[in-house]
Amino acid sequence: MLEKIVIANRGEIALRVLRACQALGIKTVAVHSTVDRNLKHVAMADESVCIGPPAPKDSYLNIPALIAAAEVTDAQGIHPGYGFLSENADFAERVEESGFVFIGPRPETIRLMGDKVSAITAMKQAGVPCVPGSGKPLDEDAAETARIAKDIGYPVIIKAAGGGGGRGMRVVHTEMALLNAVAMTRAEAKSAFGNDQVYLEKFLENPRHIEIQVLADGQGNAIHLGERDCSMQRRHQKVIEEAPAPGISEKQRAEIGQVCVEACKRIGYRGAGTFEFLYERGRFYFIEMNTRIQVEHPVTEMVTGVDLVTEQIRIASGEQLRYQQQDIVLRGHAIECRINAEDPNTFTPSPGTVNRYHPPGGPGIRMETHLYDGYRIPPNYDAMIAKLIAHGPDRATAIARMRVALSELVIQGIKTNIPLQQSNMLDQMFQVGGFNIHYLERRLAEARKA
Ligand code: ADP
Repeated sequence: MLEKIVIANRGEIALRVLRACQALGIKTVAVHSTVDRNLKHVAMADESVCIGPPAPKDSYLNIPALIAAAEVTDAQGIHPGYGFLSENADFAERVEESGFVFIGPRPETIRLMGDKVSAITAMKQAGVPCVPGSGKPLDEDAAETARIAKDIGYPVIIKAAGGGGGRGMRVVHTEMALLNAVAMTRAEAKSAFGNDQVYLEKFLENPRHIEIQVLADGQGNAIHLGERDCSMQRRHQKVIEEAPAPGISEKQRAEIGQVCVEACKRIGYRGAGTFEFLYERGRFYFIEMNTRIQVEHPVTEMVTGVDLVTEQIRIASGEQLRYQQQDIVLRGHAIECRINAEDPNTFTPSPGTVNRYHPPGGPGIRMETHLYDGYRIPPNYDAMIAKLIAHGPDRATAIARMRVALSELVIQGIKTNIPLQQSNMLDQMFQVGGFNIHYLERRLAEARKA
């Protein structure tokens, strides 16, 4: 087992990784920017290293500083969390070249999946169903692009091969708008991701977002841990996630799960990963693979009882997968609400000092956050400050527990989206389940009109 791990992240996920390390008896090194000295996990870690000023590019994205932190503390492994460098193949490579263990897939795998076009090509070869699309980057040949779009049928979506975080996408309804949209997406992709390759696929009009969690040890063993429904989205970003997905049968789950397991074996996948699909009219369409732990991993943990972060660390330590597929049994239903420091109506970020914090409790309630009384949320990072998870024997109970927990949760001094999440729990369509990815935005738009 690894003996000492650098946690190359901040906030709630850094704390989550620290807790897993401590339970395994692994020593921890927290790295932090100058504004992050007061993070909870920094106080709890065995050692801490300041890696630079607040701007992410100077600290949490600063590869030499992170490697140096591992060197000076004699750590063995680096856990990247999510976001920041977690899906940066160059980082994974530098970590390994410097003699440390990267807690994640091999750099080649990250590279393959980091480019959405090569990911789709690899997945098609592995028998994973994909959205009908160009299958390759679009070139400058306007007539050819128009022909591809026409063959697929409008509407289509132009996507950046290197895109992420819900950015670098544009929907096109007519041939007239096509070339301009390609050019604009290309320009944006170049400045945002340093990669101007774009591709095109069918825009599914009313899909759900359903993703499959996998674990593989890179030694030939792989399992899936069922699915999560992440259709509650705003601006292509997830707001609520749940497991299992309402209405997905055991047979469907086993089938799509098996497809993902086979794909993992074929690409020699190592670690925790997620196959993201759009789901429409009973069919799954692969859109991308995330080669890291995801924000929404706790809902899977609650229904399977598997600690995904611990398994990541065990796999990175060279252990074989401890679970076989038949060991994975889903129990009940879990829902996660992302809690953001933002205005619940305008969604503008609301950093500042949390002068009062009371977490909720009770059966099935789990709070993942680095907040404490007096903690000052800096303006430099993501607005997500907490995740509230409710588990119950069935979906209705999970919703009821979440409703109570949200009413019990106190975060004073800043604005949060707690009121929005409360209204989501009371929403009739949410209570029924199975809504599509546009549902929340349409509801918010109607509320604004009213
Ligand atoms: P990112 O890497 O930025 O998260 P994804 O490819 O995962 O991008 O897509 C994010 C979201 O964008 C999806 O959850 C879905 O809401 C929407 N989306 C992506 N591709 C399509 C498509 N072909 N049709 C309809 N919606 C799509």
